[in-house]
Amino acid sequence: MREKIIESLKSKLNRRVWESWFGTFDVKEIKTDHVVFQVGNLFIRDWLEKKYGALISKTLKEVFERQMSFQIDYAPTQPQEESDENEPLVKKRPLVLTPLNPILTFDNFIVGPNNMFAYSTSLEIAKNPGKYNPFFLYGGVGLGKTHLVQAIGHYLFRNQPDLRVIYLTSERFLNELVDSIKKNQVQEFRERFRNKIDVLLLDDVQFLIGKSGIQTELFHTFNELYNAGKQVVVCSDRDPQQLEKFQDRLVSRFQMGVVAKIEKPDEETCFKIASKMVQLEGAHLQEDVLRLVATNFSDNLRRLRGALVKIIMYQQISNDIIDVQKAAELLSIAAVQAPKELPQQKLIITLCKFFGVTPEEIVGKSKKQIVLNARQVGMFVAKNHFGLSLRQIAELFNRSHPTVSHTLQKVEELLNSGNIIVKNQIDQLVKYLTDRVSNQSI
Ligand code: ADP
Ligand code: MG
Repeated sequence: MREKIIESLKSKLNRRVWESWFGTFDVKEIKTDHVVFQVGNLFIRDWLEKKYGALISKTLKEVFERQMSFQIDYAPTQPQEESDENEPLVKKRPLVLTPLNPILTFDNFIVGPNNMFAYSTSLEIAKNPGKYNPFFLYGGVGLGKTHLVQAIGHYLFRNQPDLRVIYLTSERFLNELVDSIKKNQVQEFRERFRNKIDVLLLDDVQFLIGKSGIQTELFHTFNELYNAGKQVVVCSDRDPQQLEKFQDRLVSRFQMGVVAKIEKPDEETCFKIASKMVQLEGAHLQEDVLRLVATNFSDNLRRLRGALVKIIMYQQISNDIIDVQKAAELLSIAAVQAPKELPQQKLIITLCKFFGVTPEEIVGKSKKQIVLNARQVGMFVAKNHFGLSLRQIAELFNRSHPTVSHTLQKVEELLNSGNIIVKNQIDQLVKYLTDRVSNQSI
């Protein structure tokens, strides 16, 4: 029966939801008209009851073919440490104001040179809360700050379910305070944030710029937590010193521990992030489409994701495979240079356009005057502008080593004898290439 219930539930949920929320979920006991489930984390228990209660009821009705009630118990899955004997019997109850987005885990985070430091510090903090205290994480909009902080949250919920971890935006923090003032419950607010938290993950602190009252509240909250050795993580879209009009004492608190910055991802990292996003959507896109989107949206990964989702949706609706042209059209961007050409290839392509010949003619046996001319100019530019070796030039133009050597010598002679036509051709080609290749070296 247990397997039947689990299988039936699993079949109704997508894999991601299942893995994120039902990892420790199991059947504990089956009675005549009641089922007891258990789960390894209090936060997840509440979340499951709230979000999946109806689905669980429905599943039980299907499996047992009658109405069944159920409850979900909390049973820590971690083996108990020896020091537990001295722990109070009543478990600390995790206090969660904002449920975490199940996608934002360390597993789903692509590490690149732009976020390596931020990532490893976050992971270290997740493993040893309190170690780097406080942790101040900043970087431009959409570069992965929230992802990393929530990943810390997920990791802790999973591995230390008894820790009271709270993730919230600064806006939420402010609203909670305002609410508590209205209800005359400021004392409760303070008690909750100062004494009932083990890890505070506070997002988007720049929201508090210019709001002095809440900054004071945060300052005291911070001090209480910090002095009690509780981990504090703060995120911002700018570095602490650029939090204009922030209380200095708060800014200096932010800088006491580790400060990490997330930079914009490079092209390769961005491509990997795009691939990961598509994979998480359960979709597939062509590599050149991914590259196109990655090059155009590396400034803000939220927009990158938006662009990918748009293409995926279109693909699903139209049932078409989207190519680079179509993707560019959908996103109103130019479909340029999606697959990156090697500079050598670019040289050949540009050369051909310039002289109105084909690559086949260039690398083939054609003895047409214009082709001979293009070949010798191309070889000269390859050597003097791109710095290719004779061997590389020989390979590129499909010629023997001595032929290349001879041709280069001939061009030198032509130039030395004041041949304006060849000189102009070379100059123009170089200019054309420099404009288009933009500083690419080999
Ligand atoms: P921020 O909080 O810095 O504005 P987010 O954390 O909300 O940015 O990130 C924006 C989007 O990009 C999210 O969907 C997030 O999952 C994704 N993202 C950012 N960085 C990465 C990364 N390194 N690997 C995978 N996804 C990422
Ligand atoms: Mg954010």
